[in-house]
Amino acid sequence: MKFDGIKKRFFIKNKLLKKGIRNILSQNSIINKEFAISNLRRLYYLALIAAPMSLINIIKFLFFIGVESREEILWRSGIIAAHSTIVATAIMLGAISSHMLNKEKLNILSAIAVKFFAIAFILIIGAVIVTLDQLVTSNITPFLIACTVTALVFIIRPIVSIPIYLAAYIIYDLLLRLTQRNKVILASNQVNGITIIGIGICLSIILWKNNINNLVQRRYIEQQKKKLEELNAELEYKNKKLEHLAACDSMTGLLNRREFERIVSHELSRMRRYEYTSCVIIVDIDFFKKVNDEYGHPAGDELLRQFSFILKSELREFDIVGRWGGEEFIILLPDVSVFDGRKVAERLRQVIEKYNFTINGRVVKITASFGVAELSYEETEAFNKCYDRADKALYMAKKSGRNCVKVIW
Ligand code: GH3
Ligand code: MG
Ligand code: MG
Repeated sequence: MKFDGIKKRFFIKNKLLKKGIRNILSQNSIINKEFAISNLRRLYYLALIAAPMSLINIIKFLFFIGVESREEILWRSGIIAAHSTIVATAIMLGAISSHMLNKEKLNILSAIAVKFFAIAFILIIGAVIVTLDQLVTSNITPFLIACTVTALVFIIRPIVSIPIYLAAYIIYDLLLRLTQRNKVILASNQVNGITIIGIGICLSIILWKNNINNLVQRRYIEQQKKKLEELNAELEYKNKKLEHLAACDSMTGLLNRREFERIVSHELSRMRRYEYTSCVIIVDIDFFKKVNDEYGHPAGDELLRQFSFILKSELREFDIVGRWGGEEFIILLPDVSVFDGRKVAERLRQVIEKYNFTINGRVVKITASFGVAELSYEETEAFNKCYDRADKALYMAKKSGRNCVKVIW
């Protein structure tokens, strides 16, 4: 059963990968761009290594290898010339690739051209060195090195790599005949040459497949990451919306009772820590029932919204305003004495009294009554006791004919 599960997962993964490969293969421009950059970077590092290595070879051939016969002299001069060409070409290709990589926009066609030039150069120079070597030895290692280096360093499509290695073989074969007079060695080197290009083609195809797989997986991870980020942003937005919905009264946008109480208890902790008192005001619209009766319930709602807006805009940003229920509102003025709180309530009362509320294009005048009390950090159950006092004060205001502020000290 467990094995079945593993097989199924493997099958699905394989199928997805194949689908990904098909998708990627159909997006030629993506492959060209990704691999053009990779090839340039690899060429740059190859040039960095090849130039000093060939320089060492030149020094070795110039000062440490003694030659006597005509063939040996020709061989030494030829090898020095070949390595000098490698040094010059490596410096040139290193500079070109570095320049292209540092450019803001990569010209893909130029990058591909540089890559093919480098491949052709390496394979030809490998064949040339082997040809020179045949003057003194039957060794063909340089061609093996050239084929392996091109296969391992450059990412080439199989459809392109096969003709490249075949062409390299033809050049190798033609050049070899120029210097290798021994027919048996020539035949052996020709056969070995075929093996070498076979190795080159094999390595090249393996590298191509690996790189395509890597590209598909990288793309897949990028897509998943992007989706996850989008999902996270959406979740964050929804959470914020939910938090807002949970904390605010949907009609007026003011804090709801639960949130107001939560903030007050938080504020009380600060008050106890820093030892300051605050002030609570309860506001109740006078004869609000009449508004509903006269203008209708929706008009009453609109008036409540305008009323809330006035409360919010008349108070400081860090004052806390909530809708306690119905047409009753509650205000916490942090670090404000009852004396100053009474002044704030009086100011609000006057603003409301003078304000022209407009409902359905008609001006409506209303008033409100205010109950003010101190929120003391020294009391136990401080908010409940403070609320009771403010409520009593409000009751007194209603009793005294409304549209006034009462305080219980
Ligand atoms: P008082 O001066 O004694 O406060 O008189 P009042 O009419 O304002 O007081 P009462 O408590 O008798 O009536 C409050 C009214 O407020 C009754 C209710 O229909 C109305 N009300 C409560 N909540 C809402 C609401 O969300 N929208 C509307 N339109 N009316 C509401
Ligand atoms: Mg009322
Ligand atoms: Mg009321």
